Amino acid sequence: MHYPVAWGLSKLDKRLNLPGLIVGSFIPDIEVLILFLFFNVGIDNHFILHSLVGALTIGTLISILVTIYLYPILASLIFRVDKSKVKEKCKLTPVLILSCMLGNVFHILLDLPMHPYSLVLWPFVDPYSIIGVLVLVFAVDGDIKL
Ligand SMILES: [Zn+2]
Repeated sequence: MHYPVAWGLSKLDKRLNLPGLIVGSFIPDIEVLILFLFFNVGIDNHFILHSLVGALTIGTLISILVTIYLYPILASLIFRVDKSKVKEKCKLTPVLILSCMLGNVFHILLDLPMHPYSLVLWPFVDPYSIIGVLVLVFAVDGDIKL
């Protein structure tokens, strides 16, 4: 669901940078993989990159670096597009920074209704006091799997 939102944002405002939106829209979930692989925490755990504070700082910074240095290589390998054209699109600009930031923020907003807890307002609000609306809707037996 994250990629279609990134694509939709790029269509809503054509000034936005699609590679930045795409990378920003999946970067928060790299922490899920890292937590699962290195800390055996479980596949459904979120941490700082799923908070607005983390998304607007670390998440955006990681997204910028990935968009500039990795995206052109991967896009040219996978989709056989001209690497120099992709590199040109992935240059560091204020629009790229904004697009990476928006990708991260919309990732978090899209995750918000789907999880039994949310770090969106971490460290200011207890993550377990924010329960996703869809979790409540589908928890007909009262078990929200905390
Ligand atoms: Zn996520």
